Amino acid sequence: MMNQDQLNSFIIAELPLALFVVDGAYKIIEFNPAAERIIGVQRQEVLGCSCSEVLSSDLCKYHCPLQESMLAGEPCLGREAIIRTRSGEEIPIILSGRAIKDNLGELLCCIEIFRDATDTKELAAHKRNLISLFTHDLKAPVMITGGFINRLLEGKAGPLNDKQVGYLQIIQKELKLQEEYIQSFLDTSRIESGRIELELQPCDLGRLLKDIVTGFKVQASLKRIDIELELPQELGQTYLDKLHFGRVISNLLDNAIKYSQGETLVQVLVRQTERHVIFEVRDQGPGISLHNQPHIFDHYYRPARHCCQQAKGSGLGLAAVKAIVEAHAGSVWLQSVPGKGCSFFVSLPK
Ligand code: ADP
Repeated sequence: MMNQDQLNSFIIAELPLALFVVDGAYKIIEFNPAAERIIGVQRQEVLGCSCSEVLSSDLCKYHCPLQESMLAGEPCLGREAIIRTRSGEEIPIILSGRAIKDNLGELLCCIEIFRDATDTKELAAHKRNLISLFTHDLKAPVMITGGFINRLLEGKAGPLNDKQVGYLQIIQKELKLQEEYIQSFLDTSRIESGRIELELQPCDLGRLLKDIVTGFKVQASLKRIDIELELPQELGQTYLDKLHFGRVISNLLDNAIKYSQGETLVQVLVRQTERHVIFEVRDQGPGISLHNQPHIFDHYYRPARHCCQQAKGSGLGLAAVKAIVEAHAGSVWLQSVPGKGCSFFVSLPK
């Protein structure tokens, strides 16, 4: 007859998912065989090591899921990350973590579960390719229809009454929207599949950010939102594709303004580490729940709720942000306390 401890060890050992447990100081106290297989290390070698040392991922550096779970008091689900295995190979993983606290709220231990997401990523890329072929074929009929509507409105097929003009204008507006959605989907998937070559050039980041922020002042002032830009003293040049990177910051700023209530503050903060420049777009809006956070960079994901949800959008903005940042070998993530706002972070190698 198995006792409870034997049963727990058996479950942990047989689990098809990688699992490890760390103590209050983030030192590993359990590491199962599936984790050994993925990372290519033995349990004995890693016991007592810090989890960030073993995973060697940007996730640990900037947005540790365990600290997020500790702060939010909820499990942190479905985070994507790239880890480096013992043999130096970089593999994508999907990871969830939960901090366990004692009655006084002190951290007892944290449990992290992850799996190798290589297959999932390949399948997603295949799916995207199919959808993008289909979307591409949709573009021509939409444009041709638009062209004929323009001709009707110009009176090329005879005079129209006011009602007919009104209806055609509505059709024209909706078609325009459809064309924009198709174009932004195609742009995003071209970047994701590497079909757009980035034009990396040395860029004066301070100048670029000041110009973008100035461009958003009018939109923000309509909601009496202040935008603040905080730059480090010596922000040199970084190699990036100005046009595409501008879209990243613009999308994040646009969202921060669009989803925030009036009379709040939006900040663009930049800091540097030895090897990275980190951009943060912070708002005081409704935030994004932990439940929605893992999906927020997915195509067309628009969580239904909060006060400003009537704001128009396609659900493609953040997917484009992620694609562009990753094409620059950077990473993007968010931190949010629902009800208090959110911060989107972008980290670029210098
Ligand atoms: P869109 O804004 O077109 O819907 P995005 O991909 O830019 O598409 O954003 C996806 C969803 O993420 C939005 O619909 C919104 O619900 C949520 N979101 C994005 N940014 C913020 C933010 N700063 N505050 C709150 N929710 C946000």
